[in-house]
Amino acid sequence: MTKYKLEYIWLDGYVPTPSLRGKTQIKEFAEFPTLEQLPLWGFDGSSTNQAEGHSSDCVLKPVAVYPDPARTNGVLVMCEVMMPDGVTPHVSNKRATILDDEGAWFGFEQEYFFYKDGRPLGFPESGYPAPQGPYYTGVGYKNVGDVARQIVEEHLDLCLAAGINHEGINAEVAKGQWEFQIFGKGSKKAADQMWMARYLLLRLTEKYGIDIEFHCKPLGDTDWNGSGMHCNFSTAYMREVGGKAYFEALMAQFDKNLMDHIAVYGPDNDKRLTGKHETAPWNKFSYGVADRGASIRVPHSFVKNDYKGYLEDRRPNSQGDPYQIASQVLKTISEVPTAAVSAAA
Ligand code: ADP
Ligand code: MN
Ligand code: MN
Ligand code: MN
Repeated sequence: MTKYKLEYIWLDGYVPTPSLRGKTQIKEFAEFPTLEQLPLWGFDGSSTNQAEGHSSDCVLKPVAVYPDPARTNGVLVMCEVMMPDGVTPHVSNKRATILDDEGAWFGFEQEYFFYKDGRPLGFPESGYPAPQGPYYTGVGYKNVGDVARQIVEEHLDLCLAAGINHEGINAEVAKGQWEFQIFGKGSKKAADQMWMARYLLLRLTEKYGIDIEFHCKPLGDTDWNGSGMHCNFSTAYMREVGGKAYFEALMAQFDKNLMDHIAVYGPDNDKRLTGKHETAPWNKFSYGVADRGASIRVPHSFVKNDYKGYLEDRRPNSQGDPYQIASQVLKTISEVPTAAVSAAA
């Protein structure tokens, strides 16, 4: 038997966006534990905005498991928060009720800032560094400093070793701003992995004395870009059948559901989706081929391929909850009849 360090990780009850929480328990297993072998556990919900003090027990239900490469015999356990009965999802537990479909593929592009001493990493104590331009995909000390790349590389290795589908990295438009991409088949799978990747990044940067700023517009109304979490999505029907008529019906439904999408695309998004800095205004839906100033960008390949493939919703922001974002995308898609359905009707 081996003693494993199980890190149970969950989302707390903070609004408008939850924070990650985690605690460790040691358990013996003959080999690396499967999800089915991991027991329910509890925590004090009164300290996480999930219960009142007099009846504060909440239950942690393991839903996904990954090796923890930063620890000897470490296990990362993604959990849902349940009521004391262990079966009723807690009101803060969005994952329990979202739409899911393994044929729906999601690629999230997580942008964020490294922060140190209350400002973006590389910013001088007062004033600003040289304006935006050289930082995006930049190289060299004056563009990216001396520690950011080390962190993003370490984070990449941790994600890959944990079995998370990390797909790439780039330095972003603002100084101190970076991006990584996570891809998954199914909304829960993709979103679990995004939350776990966020967890690994937050934990990794502790030892550097650096924070991760997920706010979508940390530098306010300035000429510094905000942070998004573009949601690239495709269903089996979009990849295999597609077509211009279906695409246009889909876009009409996205337009109609504008406010439902904005409601779950992350807080303070009106400060980011201004129509400047490669964004579309938050209150007006638009789409365009290769258009980074549209709500939804349609890749060239999509049009060339007879309107088949994936689309990029550029509105979700860096602080958004990927469970709710993916679910709303699936909800809008589910409201548009496919050719087979409409032919049969
Ligand atoms: P850009 O910065 O040009 O918007 P990225 O390369 O950063 O693009 O991100 C593209 C994302 O699209 C990746 O996360 C990738 O996994 C995702 N993606 C690619 N193909 C599909 C697909 N068929 N369905 C869903 N997502 C996809
Ligand atoms: Mn990108
Ligand atoms: Mn980007
Ligand atoms: Mn993008």
